[in-house]
Amino acid sequence: MKSILKFMDMYILLSAIILLIKLKAQGTYRGKLGYPRFKSKKKGIGSFRLTGAIHVFADGIQLPRLGTLRLHEHGYLPTTAKVLSATVSEQAGRWFVSVQVEETVPDPVQATGQVIGIDLGIKALATASDGTVIANPKALRSHLKKLRRASRQHSRKQKGSKHRVKATRKLARLHAHIANIRKDTLHKATSQIVMKTKSRDVRPAVIVLEDLNVAGMLKNRSLSRAIGDVGFAEFRRQVEYKALEIGIQVKFVSRWEPSSKTCSSCKAVREELDLSERVFVCHACGLVIDRDVNASYNLADLA
Ligand SMILES: [Zn+2]
Repeated sequence: MKSILKFMDMYILLSAIILLIKLKAQGTYRGKLGYPRFKSKKKGIGSFRLTGAIHVFADGIQLPRLGTLRLHEHGYLPTTAKVLSATVSEQAGRWFVSVQVEETVPDPVQATGQVIGIDLGIKALATASDGTVIANPKALRSHLKKLRRASRQHSRKQKGSKHRVKATRKLARLHAHIANIRKDTLHKATSQIVMKTKSRDVRPAVIVLEDLNVAGMLKNRSLSRAIGDVGFAEFRRQVEYKALEIGIQVKFVSRWEPSSKTCSSCKAVREELDLSERVFVCHACGLVIDRDVNASYNLADLA
């Protein structure tokens, strides 16, 4: 009996390790497994956390040992909440502070609005069945030329030189600028869809998203840049947590459901639909509709 138990223990451990290795290979696992990654002295400090006497004012923050620092953006940090800790971080020459606060949040009340399906895409970042269309800023694509130039200039500078340091900074700023555009769009888009400002009978009761295999899609060489530029995974993460906060259910529809190929009016499924076909034409009932709008209707119906 004892030996069997031991064997089972071993097996569980082994399978756990195999799972970790698999996850690591996919790039999803960020744990302790593998070779150590040493910190580079050439890069920024990353971040550090401070605890103790932290006071937030309307235009500044008082941190232990650092004193009172002016804030570039006003009104973002809560001045009345109880602050537990502050994290200072640096990104491409800009310094940020985020605070962890403790506050009591009332339980979310279930929203009672309509069911909304959201189709994620490249042409339009998101198309919702309630008519909301969010344009894709294509942050990376529109800056690719600049990025290539900055990157080239950087690589041509002699290693260890002042010029190289300068070029590094310039390149980092450009990368951060692109990331900021993406971040800004995603936050605005997900907040608009979740509609925090509207009353609970207007807010959607259920938001339906497609359960996309983003990691798999990124392996498609001709589409990976465009897909990575949108930030599908981050969109999904934001919708999930923002919806949960205010009592909206989030449902996922299997990626194998033919949400694009089905006619939202008569439910006939088309055999083939090319990615370039932006307008959906139903061969059964003759419906002519925007491809993404059609998909969003189908997603809402599948809930
Ligand atoms: Zn039809």
